[in-house]
Amino acid sequence: MTEMRANTKKLFIKTYGCQMNVYDSDRMSDALAPHGYETTLDMAQADLVLLNTCHIREKASEKVFSELGRLKELQGERRAMGGDMMIGVAGCVAQAEGEEIARRAPVVDMVFGPQAYHKLPDMLARAQAQRHMHPSLKKAVIDTDFPEEDKFEHLPAARKEVTIKRGLTAFLTVQEGCDKFCSFCVVPYTRGAEVSRPVAQVIAEARSLVDAGVKEITLLGQNVNAYHGLDAADRSVSLGELAYLLAEISGLERLRYTTSHPRDMDDVLMNAHRDLDILMPYLHLPVQSGSDSILKAMNRRHTAAEYMAIIERIKAARPDMALSGDFIVGFPGETDADFEDTLKIIADVGYASAYSFKYSTRPGTPGANLGDQVPEDVKNERLWRLQDLVNAQTTAFHASCVGKTLPVLIERPGRMPGQVGGRSPYLQAVHLDGSPELIGAIHQVEIIGTSTNSLVGRLKAVAAA
Ligand code: SAM
Ligand code: SF4
Repeated sequence: MTEMRANTKKLFIKTYGCQMNVYDSDRMSDALAPHGYETTLDMAQADLVLLNTCHIREKASEKVFSELGRLKELQGERRAMGGDMMIGVAGCVAQAEGEEIARRAPVVDMVFGPQAYHKLPDMLARAQAQRHMHPSLKKAVIDTDFPEEDKFEHLPAARKEVTIKRGLTAFLTVQEGCDKFCSFCVVPYTRGAEVSRPVAQVIAEARSLVDAGVKEITLLGQNVNAYHGLDAADRSVSLGELAYLLAEISGLERLRYTTSHPRDMDDVLMNAHRDLDILMPYLHLPVQSGSDSILKAMNRRHTAAEYMAIIERIKAARPDMALSGDFIVGFPGETDADFEDTLKIIADVGYASAYSFKYSTRPGTPGANLGDQVPEDVKNERLWRLQDLVNAQTTAFHASCVGKTLPVLIERPGRMPGQVGGRSPYLQAVHLDGSPELIGAIHQVEIIGTSTNSLVGRLKAVAAA
């Protein structure tokens, strides 16, 4: 066994899924740091392994059970060498499967949902006590409640060293949960009702990130533009209003947010895009389908025409807005004509990028009870056609940038020696020749070409935007 300092224990967190889980994993390591846990990149060396799971993708729970099988072996190896390994399952699969995980995988010491992260040190202490029980009496510690109390109130502020490790860009969760209940989606069941963090908490966390060197913050929420946090006067503040407040933080150079719902795109947020240089011209606004009957069956509560009207308003406020979306093909009952409507809305919008998925049932959602499932080969064919169209749009969008000069936040050394890399305002990766001293600031870069998924640039002037 590797020699360890008496009180230092190693923590390994495997994060699945979205940026929200990345944020939550950082908060879990923050919560455990005062209890002597430091993170390791080597799972085999860990005293505590946490799987921070995501339930959105297909076969999510099978993947978790197969990882637990591997962990059981690693735990055996560590025990054979006189050590031990505790195992916890967190996140949305834990929330959805709870007891079932503990029953099927007795190797697990803790199972807890996204609302319980602040209680992690306490759960760990209880799980450690269980370790001394006779194996027939030993029980996993399970916490999948949706408590009234606010987990953000109890989580420690982000540690500076964690922030620095994250680099120049950081995520900041401002809103959790969802009340929309789209018929295909597990989020309202796994993340619970919509909750917004108070304005002061968000501003304080943003300030501490900026103090630690972060230049770009992405505000996170399952339904981020439904944000309605309270200010000091108990007034409800919208995401657009929050953007104006965050723009006053000196040193914060870029602001993004994800993921938004079309119904929550209000005028204040659109105006913020018009008024605030700090708010990047990139919007991820999923529509899922271009067919009104499928949108209705999905319970999206807007039509294709209403979505298009929102896109027009956004483009009026910020003409260079790059748009991104999510699409589901093969929702139950989707006909060829419905799918053609989806291709049409993609052609009409002209996306800079998009994510597309084959529909797959999530137990417990209304979609799981629908008949008229679309055969797998039809879903595959639709997905490929949709992705061909989106890829062509992405290529065209990249090509339209050639010849322009864009402010690029240089974030890291490039893949080749003598190169650096960063992001354009439109979230495109940009590579250029340059020295590492460029890293950490926004530079004007002339775009001279494109490669598969990125832009090639040339430094124009060493000046902050
Ligand atoms: N809140 C966001 C919204 O309203 O669009 C998205 C949340 S979800 C985490 C991310 C994406 O996963 C969805 O936009 C949808 O396209 C996809 N997704 C969710 N459930 C799905 C399912 N059952 N089958 C296929 N794709 C799904
Ligand atoms: Fe899921 Fe997004 Fe619909 Fe909420 S709005 S139910 S998170 S897809």
